[in-house]
Amino acid sequence: GVSTASLIEEPIHPPVQVNYTQLLINGDFVDSASGKTFPTLDPRTGEVIAHVAEGDAEDINRAVIAARKAFDEGPWPKMTGYERSCILNRFADLIEKHNDEIAALESWDSGKPYQQSYRSEIPTVARLMRYYAGWADKIHGLIVPADSQHHVQVLHEPIGVAGQIIPWNFPLLMYAWKVGPALACGNTIVLKTAEQTPLSALYVSKLLLEAGLPAGVLNVISGFGPTAGAAIASHMDVDKLAFTGSTDTGKIVLELSAKSNLKPVTLELGGKSPMIIMDDADIDRAVALAHVALFFNQGQCCSAGSRTFVHERIYDEFVEKAKARALKRIVGDPFKKGVEQGPQIDEEQFSKILRYIKSGIDSGATLVTGGDRIGNKGYYIQPTIFSDVQDEMKIAQDEIFGPVQSILKDLNEVIRRANASRYGLAAGVVTKNIDTANTLMRALRAGSVWINCFDVAGAAIPFGGYKMSGHGRERGIDSLMNYLQVKAVVTPLKEPCL
Ligand code: NAD
Repeated sequence: GVSTASLIEEPIHPPVQVNYTQLLINGDFVDSASGKTFPTLDPRTGEVIAHVAEGDAEDINRAVIAARKAFDEGPWPKMTGYERSCILNRFADLIEKHNDEIAALESWDSGKPYQQSYRSEIPTVARLMRYYAGWADKIHGLIVPADSQHHVQVLHEPIGVAGQIIPWNFPLLMYAWKVGPALACGNTIVLKTAEQTPLSALYVSKLLLEAGLPAGVLNVISGFGPTAGAAIASHMDVDKLAFTGSTDTGKIVLELSAKSNLKPVTLELGGKSPMIIMDDADIDRAVALAHVALFFNQGQCCSAGSRTFVHERIYDEFVEKAKARALKRIVGDPFKKGVEQGPQIDEEQFSKILRYIKSGIDSGATLVTGGDRIGNKGYYIQPTIFSDVQDEMKIAQDEIFGPVQSILKDLNEVIRRANASRYGLAAGVVTKNIDTANTLMRALRAGSVWINCFDVAGAAIPFGGYKMSGHGRERGIDSLMNYLQVKAVVTPLKEPCL
């Protein structure tokens, strides 16, 4: 096969330039109030790609003032849904036109394979914008019956200024999940990108202005969590908060909301999702599904199938074949053709994953393959598999967020064990038996259950967690209600003087 070393030497220069590094406030790209910048790094090398403006509480405040004005004075919330829809559709056109450059920026900043960005993620961002463009002129309330002689209207209104905080694993997809429904419903936005991946959001937000978005409707701040992020979560004039990231930070932002103005909060947090392989499964297909369920996006997926439960009867064969598949995984420079896995996002995540690998070995799990870094530069990690993993081991309980597959033997009490997690984001089941599938799909406490597939997403398919994986749903019809207020308007039916 291909030598991994040859795939990570001499990084290819991405086919794009970095043009936008400032904050987007009130329709203009501006420096931060403090004048400070921070470097965004190339995960292939740890070297600086660009210095970007570092937003802080003062910049968040400027952005909230702009968003408030754009909401209160319009025109955005007062435009017709059809006008908003046209702008979102034009935005989708521009994303498609610049697909390759956007994909290059996304892969450069995050380390994900370029083919994944340009074939799937960036086209999906355009698709999501069209989906929400489709909703913009179809959002309306209801007339409901009263218990008296009254006429009752239920109005659906935009909620106001939406604060949005997003992570680094799918920078632009997370942007689309947040910005799409908020704009379709007529809200204005202050969005903070993750400090690891500020570039693509700035680029596409410029396109959104070109598509006709009025100034101040979307403000984009690059910066860090405890400063810029916390300032959004605790701002008295932000009317709603949407957050994606770790469960620990989710707790912090919920608390900041409670301590400030009780803004409603939707949370998309971590997971430790079970992938259950029954003994009637086609083993080759099950191995392939479980592989992608875990290793996709360098293992940096909140929905990752990170507890692979395998029936005793097929366990040994499954482990052998999973090992063979992991050994075939092509790790290398995300800009080289055929590469399936790039580097992890940064030094912190890289070291954390290596610590979990050590913890797996120390706790007595069997290291089947991998276990080490690749090369001596950047954040590449070997596709790693542990077998004989026990439910109580740390590697079976914590979110590792890296290319580390944990295989657990036997399916005794698998429903109880699969559900014995503080998380409840997703679950997978591989079986040919419809009764097994029906039983498991109802019993698993998770926001997504994939039967004989994994990570299948769509604009209309809701996504979100049970338990400590979060509150609320994104994508689909459910995502709209996060961004709407409900107002009951009551008038007497009989005019007394008639
Ligand atoms: P994080 O939760 O720290 O970061 C997510 C976002 O929250 C970033 O924009 C960050 O700047 C912001 N943030 C951080 N601290 C904040 C604060 N005090 N107030 C407001 N905003 C704040 O996640 P991370 O450190 O980048 O990653 C750590 C772990 O989180 C990962 O190992 C993984 O387990 C999990 N994670 C989950 C997802 C997901 O999609 N659910 C995405 C990324 C990371």
